[in-house]
Amino acid sequence: MYEISTKDLFLWIEDIKNSGKDIDDLYLLLDLIGGISKSDLFLLKINSKQKVWLKIDFHLLKKKWKEHIQLCKPIQYISGSSYWRNYKFELNNDVLIPRVETEQIVEIATDIICPTDKKIIFADLGTGSGSIAISLVVENRNWTGLATDIDMNALKVAQKNHKIISSESNINFYCGNWWEPLVHYAGMINLAISNPPYIPKNIYERLPSSVINFEPKKALYGGEDGLSHIRQIISDAPKFLVKGGWLILENHFDQSKKVKNLLRKYGFDSLKTINDIFGIGRFTIGRYK
Ligand code: GLN
Repeated sequence: MYEISTKDLFLWIEDIKNSGKDIDDLYLLLDLIGGISKSDLFLLKINSKQKVWLKIDFHLLKKKWKEHIQLCKPIQYISGSSYWRNYKFELNNDVLIPRVETEQIVEIATDIICPTDKKIIFADLGTGSGSIAISLVVENRNWTGLATDIDMNALKVAQKNHKIISSESNINFYCGNWWEPLVHYAGMINLAISNPPYIPKNIYERLPSSVINFEPKKALYGGEDGLSHIRQIISDAPKFLVKGGWLILENHFDQSKKVKNLLRKYGFDSLKTINDIFGIGRFTIGRYK
């Protein structure tokens, strides 16, 4: 641990506030890299201790902040970690930073299965850091997960996170395209979830450099209209889901109607759009008849 004066720390924070930079990014850096949470800082203010301990040398912390500002590199990639729901996930550039709005997918999945302690098999297609699959097995002890990803390096990140976060071996990981590695589970899957790449070409090209330069294109880019992967997932779903099984998809802000039409075309009913925490129709669900 590295001791610094509280005054120096607060002066630095004040400087950054005055520079107009996003202060939440600084709090994230202090937490993920410095080991000081926002509530620690608050307590420090009211208890006015003279010294504070950082997990990293103060100069090095400042250097990491500079790296974030100069390169527009997300703090999560600098620290190699991110909070998502109640967990801390390890990350690298092979996986997307799990987004706050995606957290809700875990509740949607849990609410759909009745009773929740039912033993089911679910698939998380394009698992990335493993955040969805891992949250689901930790929160639903009777569920067994099949997590797929086309990128072996991403799968390694997910497997590592599973080891760190869950003490049980209730997820099997498979490398391959969407459903492809799950041939042995044809007709056996009760629930499938996916946050696939869905950004259309024209929007992808205009994404900020913090995304374009650091996040994996294959986790974001959904082809000309953004729907090419969603189309593949829906058209193959009937082979893998049990009758009455559910499919939950995350999509772009304006895709839900099209996703519903695709689901209808491939034999799904009980179609529904669910708004995310920002009021956007982010999730589309359907039940295979
Ligand atoms: N929600 C992510 C973003 O807007 C996109 C994730 C995805 O394509 N699945 O950056």
